[in-house]
Amino acid sequence: MDTETVALVRSTFRAVASFPGGPGALASAFYATLFATNPEAREFFPAAMDTQRDRLVRAIGHVIDRLEAPESVLPYLAQLGRDHRKYGIDDSHYSAVGIALVAALEKVCEPRMWTTEVGAAWRRAITLVTDVMMDAARSETGPPSWVGTVREHRRVRDDVAVVKLQLDQPMPYAAGQYVSVQVPGRPRMWRHLSLATPWSADGTVEFHVRRVPGGWVSPAIVDHARVGDTWVLGSPVGSLGDASDPGRDRLLIGVGTGTAPLRAQLLRMARQPRNRRTHLFVSGRYPCDLYDLEMPWGIARTNPWLTVVPVVEESADPWWFTGRSEVPAGMHPLLVGPVGSVVAGYSNWTDHDIQISGSPSAIQTIKFRLQAAGVESGSIRHDPLS
Ligand SMILES: Cc1cc2nc3c(=O)[nH]c(=O)nc-3n(C[C@H](O)[C@H](O)[C@H](O)COP(=O)(O)OP(=O)(O)OC[C@H]3O[C@@H](n4cnc5c(N)ncnc54)[C@H](O)[C@@H]3O)c2cc1C
Repeated sequence: MDTETVALVRSTFRAVASFPGGPGALASAFYATLFATNPEAREFFPAAMDTQRDRLVRAIGHVIDRLEAPESVLPYLAQLGRDHRKYGIDDSHYSAVGIALVAALEKVCEPRMWTTEVGAAWRRAITLVTDVMMDAARSETGPPSWVGTVREHRRVRDDVAVVKLQLDQPMPYAAGQYVSVQVPGRPRMWRHLSLATPWSADGTVEFHVRRVPGGWVSPAIVDHARVGDTWVLGSPVGSLGDASDPGRDRLLIGVGTGTAPLRAQLLRMARQPRNRRTHLFVSGRYPCDLYDLEMPWGIARTNPWLTVVPVVEESADPWWFTGRSEVPAGMHPLLVGPVGSVVAGYSNWTDHDIQISGSPSAIQTIKFRLQAAGVESGSIRHDPLS
């Protein structure tokens, strides 16, 4: 995409996103236009649209930030196109979305800013994005979605559940990827969950889910999911597992259930005869949050390429926790402190291929701390923050 188009698109989006209420106004205008012109499109979205509105603006921002180097965003858009087949949408819906987005931008932009050139630049950018998504959707021969039956639901902590599902048909995916899921009682409220185990021929998948207080979907999974429930899963998305430079040693940092896509990669790596030197930092607020240390420690005991380091912010468990939370015997001792600072102070990571996985705020904080320690942002990878 030419630099002038990128500059015009980016400057308009920044202007809209920066004025108070701008992102909300853009999202409201977009959905109002889309549903007015295509009433059937309303069925693809949940009844409560608040989370959806935030997501739209963040998703546009994510793509716009990468327009200068489309090669970094095209694979992601292609994956999104394959994933969007789960809604049953066709080319006409993509076109309606493009028209509604241009109309919404024109409505919320100051008239002096919305020039003919700006409108044309947005149309070019939207065409690029939708063409990639539509092409990928058309050329995909696999199923648009999978049905998974819950085979096991294990509460490993009060607010964390490990859920195993049996899929109705094989789902090829790479360790480190995630899928969108729809669970019973939460129609059209798709949420992303990372696959916690690598691909398995028997069609089982595993998720580690933390209850977000006040959330719509995660409490339904942690507190109410039952064996026999059926979930719908979209196509696998993400490229966390693709080493940006396979010749470099690896640093993996997982916060809470964010360790899920990292453990999937370790389980896959453990099947290979040789691996690059790998450090995994598993972190949480309290020692009791480190509910899954045995698994990586089991791999580290027999694989000298792996070092597992547990990190917590508070050295003691909270008063209400009554279970056991010891670090396995022989493992690296527990380090205490903010995980970003602990990792940055542990070694020099400037020549490592780095992955961070956790909540958006945790990822941002750790990334900032590593960059302050001299790590280039290009060496750090993470999933999209929304
Ligand atoms: C690529 C990706 C992979 C993910 N993988 C996992 C996973 O493996 N396991 C897992 O448990 N979750 C994972 N998530 C988070 C998950 O998709 C949901 O966002 C989360 O479960 C909350 O959904 P909810 O419906 O309960 O909350 P919502 O109803 O969506 O949100 C309720 C409120 O909580 C806030 N909120 C949402 N998520 C968080 C959060 N993580 N921390 C703090 N506040 C939050 C929202 O801003 C909102 O104010 C992943 C997210 C992404 C983007």
